[in-house]
Amino acid sequence: MKDRPGDHHRFVLAGGTLHDPAHGRDGVVADLWVEDGKIVAQPADAAAFARVDARGLVVMPGGVDLHSHVAGPKVAHGRRIAPHLARGRRGQAPAAVPTIHATGALYAALGYTTVFDAAIATAAAGIAHAELAELPILDKGIYLLAADQTDVLAAAIRDDRGELRRLVSTAIEVGRGWAVKVANPGGPAFWKRGRRGDHHDLDTPLPGESLTPRVLLERLAEVVTDLALPHPLHVHTANLGLPGNWRTLLETMKSLVGRRAHLAHVQFHSYSGGQLDEGSFGSGVAPVVEFFNASPDLTLDVGQVLFGGTVAMTGDSAAAEHLAHATGVPLVSHDLHLEGGCGVLPIAYKEKNLIHAWQWAIGLEWFLSVADPWRLALSTDHPNGAHFTAYPHLMRLLGDAAFRREALDRIHPRVRSRSPLRGFDREYTLQELCIVTRAAPARIAGLTNKGHLGIGADADIACYRPSRDLAAMFAMPAKVFKAGVLVTEDGQLRATPAGQTLTATPRG
Ligand SMILES: [Zn+2]
Repeated sequence: MKDRPGDHHRFVLAGGTLHDPAHGRDGVVADLWVEDGKIVAQPADAAAFARVDARGLVVMPGGVDLHSHVAGPKVAHGRRIAPHLARGRRGQAPAAVPTIHATGALYAALGYTTVFDAAIATAAAGIAHAELAELPILDKGIYLLAADQTDVLAAAIRDDRGELRRLVSTAIEVGRGWAVKVANPGGPAFWKRGRRGDHHDLDTPLPGESLTPRVLLERLAEVVTDLALPHPLHVHTANLGLPGNWRTLLETMKSLVGRRAHLAHVQFHSYSGGQLDEGSFGSGVAPVVEFFNASPDLTLDVGQVLFGGTVAMTGDSAAAEHLAHATGVPLVSHDLHLEGGCGVLPIAYKEKNLIHAWQWAIGLEWFLSVADPWRLALSTDHPNGAHFTAYPHLMRLLGDAAFRREALDRIHPRVRSRSPLRGFDREYTLQELCIVTRAAPARIAGLTNKGHLGIGADADIACYRPSRDLAAMFAMPAKVFKAGVLVTEDGQLRATPAGQTLTATPRG
């Protein structure tokens, strides 16, 4: 289907119930005027604008996914390694790792209009962009794993700040990146020296060097701030998936506080317990969220686990190999020019599996314990914790305490009794769901024209039919507009315009 320019060149979306948290509008009935893909003030020549009826619909900005994996070599490996997941739950779910074309259509069908791939090696940026050029509808950007580059690491080791700044700036410009991601700071250095799957804390120097992961994080965060990139350093810290790793996450936050930083998929970094003792595994959220709530410079996304089959893929090769050992599943381990790498393997999360049940409960505990929804982005670390098409189900878990309690009753009995989850009565309001799926991720990512419905905003707009069943409501918007073009309507694809590639310009 082709975009038909002119069809929606100028229109008024009339009488919808607006949720626009950035402007304090919480269920306000108002018209939205759209011209040339932007939201505009009510025009003098209103009669020249087509009228699109939105009466009775909940109107929100388009969704923004600030941490997903949709392109590049590891996603391509994911498509090869798990063809048996091509039909998911109940035979209806899409492929675990959809094609790039299906990815755009499926996101848009949920009301999402922007996505970031959160881990692209600088050496793979060209491939990722070639693939993302084929992603229909959505605006898109990539976070570069600049710290995996040997020369960047060498500059950090020498503490040559000018050179570090120059190299990171060049990586962003040449790789056309939006942000800088660090996956397991210093991890590749340990990995190359044969350290596998075991803890290294932030103060263990890199093999043969004096630089520690903590200092590397601090230097990278400073450089990103110095370059005035729209999004702060995007941190996937050390010891992902390992018992007892809540201490590493807390130490990471302590290192970064006072500088802006974003903590990725914190669910995977919030475990208590000892390494050889599955019985002691549990939640380490409480002390970390307490620190987070008191640290206004920090933001996070959760990386929620939901039950079902999916594919794990990470630039943290050590974590992937550890998971493959623990589950007995073969993995693809892929190196890029002996710098960055990735690990890819299938995984099925089960309600009655002790560890999986803890992961599910720990993610929800994060959502329900963070005091300020503006510092939290909804994510499943797609496809690692769950497929992005499960977002409506996750939104219902957050907004419907009775539904959540029923789900809690089905999981492993030890988690049911030991998780603090049962004590949470909090229900996300529509406004809060709007914040964590669009307003906050847009603001955290540094997208000034997205995540809100003010004048000058991109006309990325999702209209939902209100329902007590939040999963049904958010799974099928009545209408979705991308830059003013109607792209889906009641689950039917209406147009597939090309989206923009979002690139940052480092301060010179
Ligand atoms: Zn990720």
